[in-house]
Amino acid sequence: SPAVELRAVSKIYGASAAVRGVTMEIPRGSFVTILGPSGCGKSTLLRMISGFVTPSSGDVMIDGASVIGAAPYERDTAMVFQDYALFPHRTVAQNLAFGLRMRNVAKAEIAQRVEAMLDLVNLRGFGDRRVSQISGGQAQRVALGRALIVRPAVLLLDEPLGALDLKLRKQMQAELKTIHRDLGLTFVAVTHDQEEALTLSDRIAVMNGGALEQFDTPENLYRRP
Ligand code: ADP
Ligand code: ADP
Repeated sequence: SPAVELRAVSKIYGASAAVRGVTMEIPRGSFVTILGPSGCGKSTLLRMISGFVTPSSGDVMIDGASVIGAAPYERDTAMVFQDYALFPHRTVAQNLAFGLRMRNVAKAEIAQRVEAMLDLVNLRGFGDRRVSQISGGQAQRVALGRALIVRPAVLLLDEPLGALDLKLRKQMQAELKTIHRDLGLTFVAVTHDQEEALTLSDRIAVMNGGALEQFDTPENLYRRP
């Protein structure tokens, strides 16, 4: 089965549809970006994949299992939020350890996985820093590490680089691509930036007015005539 499968997924708020009839299969190991203007339904679609938002109709499957009605610990996804949603007064290591503690992972294993994650997201030596005392780029890396440390099948990223300045964004795009390639996981990221979608992903889901307009490789979508 594909890593993520959406079957005629819709979300209605009041009288209007935020997402309308999206059907899509995301292959395992791919890096997909959901691209489109503000208000087109990108975040709602991502939140339905994560299980935070329940579809009005249709189904969402991760590795062949429906996320609808599943408890949070049963869903094999992790989310990197736009505003990072870290604990500012806790240390980098404590923030990384959070999801493992929630899952009652043994202390020795947590210590070892936090150490490995500090390396992966280029924060070696920063474990004891409080999140309130690190830079925006470093906070972004903590948010990424906190999601990855639980070893989800699918990593979801909601405008992950939106708060960073251009130079840092370019650097983090490269780091994200490297981490994706090294881990071989499925990444699904929301962006309104076409350049970013082209740089990051091997498939782009173009949304407009709640509908999926196109879903293809950058080469096929933007091939010169
Ligand atoms: P995007 O991420 O592309 O900016 P969203 O998925 O956030 O788009 O929103 C799509 C549409 O759904 C917008 O018109 C938005 O106002 C509406 N919407 C999103 N979430 C809610 C909500 N919780 N209640 C009501 N309307 C919502
Ligand atoms: P608490 O004080 O809430 O018990 P800790 O500060 O001991 O939490 O850290 C939480 C987890 O992160 C622990 O599993 C610990 O082993 C690990 N850890 C703490 N500091 C570091 C660090 N500097 N480098 C790597 N791992 C760390």
